[in-house]
Amino acid sequence: MQNQLIFENIIKKKIPANIVYQDEKITAFKDIQPKAPIHILIVPNFFMASLNDINKENKWIMAHMFYIAVKIAKKNKINEEGYRIIINCNKNGGQEINYLHMHLLGGEKLKSFS
Ligand code: AMP
Repeated sequence: MQNQLIFENIIKKKIPANIVYQDEKITAFKDIQPKAPIHILIVPNFFMASLNDINKENKWIMAHMFYIAVKIAKKNKINEEGYRIIINCNKNGGQEINYLHMHLLGGEKLKSFS
């Protein structure tokens, strides 16, 4: 199975996942191997392999993903102490699932990059 199908099947509820938010544009679900107490993935409901697929027609989806990520952060009460949003792109960026996704991480002090 191409690994992008994992997220497609989660969106269509064909395989189990802990979905925390869904609308007609995006789906958000808990990461199966959380790297922080709160670790949620946010994906478009239509297929985009990576950030490289952003174009003039679909760029609105990023605004919606950020908007909902902040709403989820507030709902989980991690907004005051802070959180991190990450999008890995392709091999050097550490992207393992070939379906555009945003990581929302929080609930503890996250390690600094520098
Ligand atoms: P990335 O390395 O940016 O491609 O991140 C992929 C993420 O997807 C990893 O954090 C995985 O733990 C997560 N993941 C893989 N399969 C599933 C799944 N079935 N349900 C939830 N999260 C998953």
